[in-house]
Amino acid sequence: MKAIVFESGKLSFEGARPAPRPAPGEALIRVTLAGICRTDLEIALGYMGFSGIPGHEFVGVIEECGDERLNGKRVTGEINIPCGKCAYCRRRMGNHCPDRKVLGILGKDGAFAEYLTLPFKNLHPLPDSITDEEAVFIEPLASAYEILEQVRVDEDTRVCVLGDGRLGLLVAQVMAQTGCALLAVGRHEEKLSILKARGIPTRTSIEGLTRELDLVIDCTGSAEGIRTALDLVRPAGTVVVKTTVAGKSEIDLSRIVVDEIALIGSRCGPFQPAIQALEEKRVDVRPLVSKVFPIDEGVEAMRYAGEKGVLKALLKMA
Ligand SMILES: [Zn+2]
Ligand SMILES: [Zn+2]
Repeated sequence: MKAIVFESGKLSFEGARPAPRPAPGEALIRVTLAGICRTDLEIALGYMGFSGIPGHEFVGVIEECGDERLNGKRVTGEINIPCGKCAYCRRRMGNHCPDRKVLGILGKDGAFAEYLTLPFKNLHPLPDSITDEEAVFIEPLASAYEILEQVRVDEDTRVCVLGDGRLGLLVAQVMAQTGCALLAVGRHEEKLSILKARGIPTRTSIEGLTRELDLVIDCTGSAEGIRTALDLVRPAGTVVVKTTVAGKSEIDLSRIVVDEIALIGSRCGPFQPAIQALEEKRVDVRPLVSKVFPIDEGVEAMRYAGEKGVLKALLKMA
């Protein structure tokens, strides 16, 4: 099969990589479309020490699984593969299983290839009303919904989303569902216009903002973001950190202690509300697609995805 491979610190296209074979309990999926995300770009810089096929945002078709009737079904899938036996797994916290594998991120080949395998229970069948281009956003959209699992947000909550990249634009749209008092801050008018079109107030600078926000969500993708968030959150407020950078960030811990700020890390989230939001057209991901590349040009696509101003680059397999 064709695949994009990251090995020995080098990213390359392979035209004849052996296709994976499904282990017991797994399905073989023919990938149709995959999304390139910041994590993939970080992986290509050495994040997680990953070696193999990256990619974890995908839509595909089941080719082979235990149940004949499911062959041919269009699916996307959850990316964490927990051991199923440890204390975390027994408490239904498989996303934190210390022995987990993660598709295209940790110990498991991912979606930048014509085929992948995933445990059958990780898969979510997709309604016809969701297109392939929308479906590749389900994984990152689920990670935006994770915030609502972690923090209570209602009409009275003053929320600020920092960052107008791929994730920031999804998080802002998810927050808007709650009816909260929302503000999105970014640097690019053209990206923020996607939110403006949906009635979400935006700004291109934090100048003039005072420390009165109940919840600040850092989606900047830079080490600076968390410091900005701490500058904006009110005493006893909450900062949610979505940014994953390979580098380290220095923050003022005294602000957190003295003002009793809750600092919450946030990663993967529930797929069902994400699928439902796309089905009911409550979230619009289509303006986020910048360009679709054939898998053969995957290395170029990864380079393009890291360019300034680019939102989402997709890889088409067929
Ligand atoms: Zn991702
Ligand atoms: Zn486990």
